[in-house]
Amino acid sequence: MIRLLPPYSFLLIALALSACARSEEIDSSAREVAFLSEDENLIIAFKRTGQVEFLAPIEEGTCYLLGTGSYDADRLIDHDGTIYGYEIEGAELYLDDPTHDLLTGVYRRVNLRSICQARQPDPGENSASVQPLPLSGIEGSGATKKRSAEFDVDEDTIAISVYLFGREVGTRARPTAFLAPDGGNLLVELPDISFCDAGYCALMLPRNEAIPVEPGRYRVEISGPEEYLEEIDARLATRKGAVFDRTRIPLRTVVASTTLTDDEIDQTIDGIVASFEASPYAIELTPTEVVRADAKYAEIVADFRSAAIEELFALGDAKALNLFLIDRAVGIPGLLGLAAGIPSSQGIRGPFNGVIVAVQTHRTGAGVLSTEVLADSSAHELGHALGLFHTTEEDGLLHDPIADTPECLPEHDINGDGSLTAKECEALDGFNMLFWTPVYEDGTFAKQDEISIEQADVLRHAIIGVE
Ligand SMILES: [Zn+2]
Repeated sequence: MIRLLPPYSFLLIALALSACARSEEIDSSAREVAFLSEDENLIIAFKRTGQVEFLAPIEEGTCYLLGTGSYDADRLIDHDGTIYGYEIEGAELYLDDPTHDLLTGVYRRVNLRSICQARQPDPGENSASVQPLPLSGIEGSGATKKRSAEFDVDEDTIAISVYLFGREVGTRARPTAFLAPDGGNLLVELPDISFCDAGYCALMLPRNEAIPVEPGRYRVEISGPEEYLEEIDARLATRKGAVFDRTRIPLRTVVASTTLTDDEIDQTIDGIVASFEASPYAIELTPTEVVRADAKYAEIVADFRSAAIEELFALGDAKALNLFLIDRAVGIPGLLGLAAGIPSSQGIRGPFNGVIVAVQTHRTGAGVLSTEVLADSSAHELGHALGLFHTTEEDGLLHDPIADTPECLPEHDINGDGSLTAKECEALDGFNMLFWTPVYEDGTFAKQDEISIEQADVLRHAIIGVE
């Protein structure tokens, strides 16, 4: 979901790794504590599960998840396998970063909730295709409790999404069951039906051709500590009627960048439309008006819970794909683009319905902009917004739930650096729109406009698709 230029990616994971492996061992004596670096740019949080989270505090009440890892008695291990030594003495953490030396230092203990979880944006306004989904009262005993919702799906319905919003949604409060009319738990059958980011989860059908929408009663269960279940806002989006020969999806472009010319904007939009035209089922992105946003949003923190994003995304449209072109993502210098969710909250005008694409990372050293690459990055993020995962993740171990996209495996990592490039996967999915990165080792970009038949089938079921 997050696309970066290489030098900055060492600590950053693709947030699409919702199914990432967690440590099975739980140390009952382990505490849940967090420490802030001296320059106040990095928080390391120790979870009871044996996991660590690396977080960047970005503004009052919001932190950005940079990556995750695990810990034992005296070592932290990040997602790349880099090992850090640590020691906790009272309110201080001493960290030794022998690989980069960047993180070495003394960290002071802080209250994670007061720094990172104070803010919750308004999820936004529903269009006609979205309705509130009433949740049950809090059920169950013990530390982990449950809330649920049931809804009926008729014969006409071809696509459904359940959106969950809340301060701890995606972190401590998560969907744990999605029961189909036949009683089967779809999250067991296909965990990728659910995707969570901080503050937002989306359950979506269809995610592939294997599990279509069936008529009947569905049930969603959300589990977590009681205090985090109270504040969940759930919505149900549905699309009824036929699948069309040609599916049109409105595209709204909001330009906060101060460096893009009108011609460059037009070329970029043309490029995005052309990319989707290559789809094996006809997908036509129909550009609506281009809106210029206030220049104060040109450089913005790429966190969808922030106040700035909430304001900027209010310029979006509930019934369109919303593309926000900014100049630069503050704090993430290599950010190419970022989607608010997989899918975004289509049908709702709000902070989780849109994608951000940064213009400056698409310029060469001489400042020349490639609108073709900018269009490709935008198309990739819009693919996420429509519910598509990366065909292959960086390590080659995780792949999308789509049957007909080739899987590039770790054995294709020819130079053995643990990171698959489009070049290394060129005979497979290196040119797919949803390959995890477009960047070659020499810094040039791959042209990625392939869409498989089954990916196209997901696209044509978009909640906001029209004839
Ligand atoms: Zn991506």
